[in-house]
Amino acid sequence: MIHNPKMECMGREEMTALQSERLRKIVKTCYEKVPFYKNKMDKMGIKPEDIKGIEDIHKLPFTTKHDLRDEYPFGLQATPMSEVRRIHASSGTTGKPVVDTYTDNDIANWAEGVARVMAVGDIGPGDVVQVSYGYGLFTGGLGAHDGAHVRGAVQLPTSAGNSEKQIMLMKDFQSAALCCTPSYALHLAECIEKSDQVKIEDMNLRVGFFGAEPWTEGMRKELEAKLHIKAIDIYGLTEMSGPGVGGECEYQCGTHLWEDMFYPEIINPDTLEPCKPGEFGELVFTSLCKEAMPIIRYRTRDLTRLIYDKCKCGRTAVRMDRILGRSDDMMIIRGVNVFPSQIETVLTEFPAFTPQYFITVDRKNNEDTFDLDVELRSEFFSPNPSKQMPYIKPLYDRIVSLIGIKPNIHIKEPGGIERSIGKAKHVKDLRNFQN
Ligand code: ADP
Ligand code: ZN
Repeated sequence: MIHNPKMECMGREEMTALQSERLRKIVKTCYEKVPFYKNKMDKMGIKPEDIKGIEDIHKLPFTTKHDLRDEYPFGLQATPMSEVRRIHASSGTTGKPVVDTYTDNDIANWAEGVARVMAVGDIGPGDVVQVSYGYGLFTGGLGAHDGAHVRGAVQLPTSAGNSEKQIMLMKDFQSAALCCTPSYALHLAECIEKSDQVKIEDMNLRVGFFGAEPWTEGMRKELEAKLHIKAIDIYGLTEMSGPGVGGECEYQCGTHLWEDMFYPEIINPDTLEPCKPGEFGELVFTSLCKEAMPIIRYRTRDLTRLIYDKCKCGRTAVRMDRILGRSDDMMIIRGVNVFPSQIETVLTEFPAFTPQYFITVDRKNNEDTFDLDVELRSEFFSPNPSKQMPYIKPLYDRIVSLIGIKPNIHIKEPGGIERSIGKAKHVKDLRNFQN
């Protein structure tokens, strides 16, 4: 089901006109209300009147996470606090968190973006939407919550964690949708498998809205098979409001971005020039509707590409390919670029392994070391190393051929790798602690 056919299926010309009108307005507001933007534009010799339409967007300065931290907490706010109704902040692993503030309209637009994704799973009145994203400063919980509200569905705010209770409520309340990170969804699926109280057949789940971290096609298949659902990817970031900047449609062939609210560009992260259509690069967003904290040309550091081809679902909103990872997640090991999600892709090709993994990178005798913990499923596991060898060898060969580095593989017992209730942590890079 399409939540907002007018916006999601708008013709290209009309969309460009709408984006242009919204861009002119947002640039004017930023220039007049936010000294940060005025200073940047003055330095570049650009006035709001120079931005006549969306085709002029490349004249505008970029905004980086660094800028957001410098302007902490409210330096980028364009409205007085009396108009702000909520504050969120990203999990920000280092330094100060990144803050976003919202007016009433901002909260409504954000919820609309999430509702568009939930409509893909036909979520509506009577459907219990179990929100197992964390509630709090993190945008996942309240974002999914408000989206379910807009769809007229039943909101079940379980938040993340307490997995036994989650699955009890999932069964007793007959939840139709599960919203959480894909790694937590996998953990819940494993809990259901292990439970002697509940079985997957007792559940009423039909769809999962999973996001907040990169995940692979292999992981999708695993989640769909284990939970008997359709697994839909939902994408977003705090800087643009939160989840619901876009989502997959029922054809699961890329994430439709809600271009009427968030204008996407792909740039070469080294030259900062626009990439050719269809080329992979860094995703950049301009918020076209945000009132409290509009952001111009925000460099997300997410690496992907845009697909403007027509989609079978009827939506015209541009699609983005699966996110390869964040540029700052990329590890350089012995000179080779490695994304953690590549390991997930390889693991899900081998039925004996679970998709769980943990990478430890270190530097010994002037050489990078790459240790990979993986888990065999219980039916394949043996503590006897000679019985593990037949599984290790093909995995090792595949990683060497696909990624080009030789891992030290360590087999853990089932459940031996720590599970996460929010965004999974897959890497420990000990090289950063040296010098
Ligand atoms: P933080 O930057 O602290 O993680 P956010 O919760 O705002 O805070 O995270 C947004 C980021 O999460 C995105 O920029 C992207 O890297 C990642 N992300 C969100 N949704 C997805 C998704 N569906 N697929 C891949 N990555 C995602
Ligand atoms: Zn589609």
